[in-house]
Amino acid sequence: MKPSERFTKKTWRKPPKKAVKGHKMPNKTGMGKCAICKQQITSRKIKLLKNSYNAPKSTSKTNKPYGGYLCTKCLRLQAIQETRKLEQA
Ligand SMILES: [Zn+2]
Repeated sequence: MKPSERFTKKTWRKPPKKAVKGHKMPNKTGMGKCAICKQQITSRKIKLLKNSYNAPKSTSKTNKPYGGYLCTKCLRLQAIQETRKLEQA
């Protein structure tokens, strides 16, 4: 067990035709952050595990490459840099 997981809450779920298993509940709630600039992404909603069972994935994040992981500014910069690398090679 990781030290960070020591005080995380646990819920008990029973998958179909399997035994009851403990799931760790993430402490994260609210909006997501960009992986590069750490700005808040308004389209991404991090939900608790117990709430995320019913919600479809398309409602919690945008359906585009790196959607919900990078903000639009960083995604555009990364795409330009990667295409320039391809031209040089
Ligand atoms: Zn960003």
